[in-house]
Amino acid sequence: MQTDVDIAVVGAGAAGLAAAIFAAETRRDLKVVLLDSARKIGAKILVSGGRRCNVTHERVTPADFHAPHRVVERVLQRFDVQTTVRWFESLGVPLKREPTGKLFPVSNDARTVLSALLRRCSALDVRVMAHHRVQDITPTDTGFRIVHEAGQFTAQRVIMATGGQSLPKTGSDGHGWSIVQRLGHTVTATYPALVPLMLDDTFFHRGLSGISHEVTLTTRVGGKTIDRRAGSLLWTHFGVSGPVVLDASRFWVIANSRGQDAKISIAFLPEQPFEAVDRWLSHAGSNPGPKTVVTTLSQRLPNRVVKALCAYVGEMYGATSTENRDERTNDGLGSTALSQLPRPRRRALTQALTDLPLPVVGDRGWNHAEVTAGGVPLGEVNPHSMVSRKVPGLYLIGEMLDCDGRIGGFNFQWAWSTGHIAGCSVAGGLAGS
Ligand SMILES: Cc1cc2nc3c(=O)[nH]c(=O)nc-3n(C[C@H](O)[C@H](O)[C@H](O)COP(=O)(O)OP(=O)(O)OC[C@H]3O[C@@H](n4cnc5c(N)ncnc54)[C@H](O)[C@@H]3O)c2cc1C
Repeated sequence: MQTDVDIAVVGAGAAGLAAAIFAAETRRDLKVVLLDSARKIGAKILVSGGRRCNVTHERVTPADFHAPHRVVERVLQRFDVQTTVRWFESLGVPLKREPTGKLFPVSNDARTVLSALLRRCSALDVRVMAHHRVQDITPTDTGFRIVHEAGQFTAQRVIMATGGQSLPKTGSDGHGWSIVQRLGHTVTATYPALVPLMLDDTFFHRGLSGISHEVTLTTRVGGKTIDRRAGSLLWTHFGVSGPVVLDASRFWVIANSRGQDAKISIAFLPEQPFEAVDRWLSHAGSNPGPKTVVTTLSQRLPNRVVKALCAYVGEMYGATSTENRDERTNDGLGSTALSQLPRPRRRALTQALTDLPLPVVGDRGWNHAEVTAGGVPLGEVNPHSMVSRKVPGLYLIGEMLDCDGRIGGFNFQWAWSTGHIAGCSVAGGLAGS
């Protein structure tokens, strides 16, 4: 018995669009349909990378992902950065490299990426069906029955590309996981990742909203360091964001959700250990003159950050300190001459500069997360084809798999690479049928 279509791709995000294009390119005679629950295709691509779409990164390695490295390596080898760049060029989207190594479209407009992918689908006669939420998929003798909100049809092969749960208003609400679970797959616990963090209201972040600077963040769970990374931190009215926070967030979120004692601390002078900072302050203080703590620290940090930190440290340590109470001013230690700063205060300040606990009270949740940690374990797909090891004829790609990358274009690279592998493989597999 014939099926209605050859290949049904469920989810028209980055991974699904790539898979449909590569399937149709591999076998022009196949009937490929691409279904998506959203009324408008590609909302996530449009908002990505500050609406410029950080398509990939100049260097992508397995170490940029949280997933078994050997599997990720196999996937990346099949469709690497150079091939991705050439592919986008062939679609009419030349990419440019930014100083951070991130690659963006030369147009600086995410719309050019989405338009090019949709144009290619149209040129290849891929039928894109928006506003077609798939409710269930069941195996049949010849393939699968796909039940969607407007009816049903049959397909020989199905590629699942329904994404994770990040930014659910774009259509990625996690429903795809229940479909593949019913088919026999497992789904690990899922967590928002690349997500801003909220700080306790009593902390000084609110007054610094909009300021960003380089820091090092250390995440400890049960006192043990599990992650340390340097990068740019952005202070916001609710807490902290910026690349270094987004990258660190998954460690805190996962440990905290599991009820573990997770803590993040900040070092304001990246890669400067306690002794080096203390020596610097001690040396600066030994020079006679009216140099205050604020003027000295402002050589290396934004002035407003220094003032907030000094006030905080003054309050934290000054209230319990018995010496030099007269010196305390409403800016904490800020206006104290460095040469007058007693050693215990100086060391307290150094401690705060090098390892200040951030009072994280939560994350900003799925509506602000860029990606999902968790999903279908990579062990349940064959990385050479992305075919399911549980359900013959079913393929799984993109963010719905348990693989999340750091910020910088890595998550899209995962979507393009897995989409390429599944698209070529599924169509190639049907070639002889
Ligand atoms: C604000 C933001 C900015 C980002 N910026 C970047 C960036 O610059 N660079 C980068 O590398 N990554 C970025 N990411 C991450 C990146 O967008 C994702 O990792 C990537 O889009 C995942 O692609 P996907 O195709 O697997 O899933 P998705 O893009 O989530 O697509 C899944 C699609 O499946 C559809 N769907 C879900 N369930 C069903 C169903 N039952 N039936 C039919 N359709 C369904 C959804 O509507 C959706 O269109 C960003 C993410 C966010 C939220």
